Amino acid sequence: MMNPHSCDDAHLAATYEQTPPPDLLALLEEQDDFLLLGHVNPDGDAVGSVLALAHMLRDMGRTVAAAFPSPPPRWWTDMPGADLVQDNPRQAPVVIALDCDGAGRLAGLQPLHAAAQYSVEIDHHSSTDRTSDILYVDPAAGATGILVFRIIEALGRPLTSAIATCIYWAVATDTGFFRFANTSTEVLEICARCAACGADPHSIAHTNVGIRPLPHLILKGRALVGLESYLDGRVLASAIGPEDFVAAGADRTHVEEIIDDIRLAENVDIYVLFKAIDLDNRWEVSLRSSVVNCAQVARDFGGGGHAEAAGFTFDGPLEKGRTRLLDALSKALPDHHHG
Ligand code: 5GP
Ligand code: MN
Repeated sequence: MMNPHSCDDAHLAATYEQTPPPDLLALLEEQDDFLLLGHVNPDGDAVGSVLALAHMLRDMGRTVAAAFPSPPPRWWTDMPGADLVQDNPRQAPVVIALDCDGAGRLAGLQPLHAAAQYSVEIDHHSSTDRTSDILYVDPAAGATGILVFRIIEALGRPLTSAIATCIYWAVATDTGFFRFANTSTEVLEICARCAACGADPHSIAHTNVGIRPLPHLILKGRALVGLESYLDGRVLASAIGPEDFVAAGADRTHVEEIIDDIRLAENVDIYVLFKAIDLDNRWEVSLRSSVVNCAQVARDFGGGGHAEAAGFTFDGPLEKGRTRLLDALSKALPDHHHG
């Protein structure tokens, strides 16, 4: 009897919203020197989609390097392909930005992308500020890892165990391990396929959500203790500043997912976390809501993201930025009576 979950299955039952553009597929087939880049403060989707595509290109015999403008959290060395990542990458003719809501998210690595003979963006964010020669953007996709999976399928390349692990990692983390609104049939089918081809759901879940560095837990505790309600309880917010990072022994990589615990609070429409690591008074903001469009609010402050999860940065003081944000949120909230 045929194993319905065999790694050799040619097709998924799900039909894709969008297939990869032919010019991208041709570029991947014809070029032989690639640099793949993920966004600043890289998350599981950024690292997983970059490394999955890097594995595919290396398996095809191409020269390929990967880089990130700032270091990913410690877990990333558990992902296959650490040897593909370089601290000071050189210019390549083809430079591909993955999971970037516009090339600005490449921070210090943006000049390499801008100077490429062929610049490419592969992404599922909603930015319309795209500067690349070739675009593969599908905001309906649950993760950028999904787009890489579609590319691998379209090229008929094998889903090796290393690639399956990177894609599962990318998709599982970006969907909050299959809890968030972006968890679709396609997400579940692709992850089932990756599991059949060598991804280990238990160990990936354990590494990402089953065990956490102590500084992360202490930092999260400080963020939770500091929670305050605004706008008649419809907004829940906290702030962690330089003194919190020092007290927790934490760095920027320990911030990820604190907002996911804040968004557990019931009867709240919008969740906000303000973060400042250094004494330079530069604040990063995480926004979460299924009631207002976070990406739209964040864009008005120079940031971006997804409808349900977005972010931006501002120069302090904190109180001024918080007042401005609350003002914008009160206008964005439906049925909110002003004044
Ligand atoms: P987080 O709150 O987890 O840092 O980010 C949530 C989402 O918003 C992610 O998809 C992230 O890439 C995006 N995002 C966060 N900060 C910024 C920003 O400053 N600019 C843009 N364009 N996107 C951001
Ligand atoms: Mn993503």
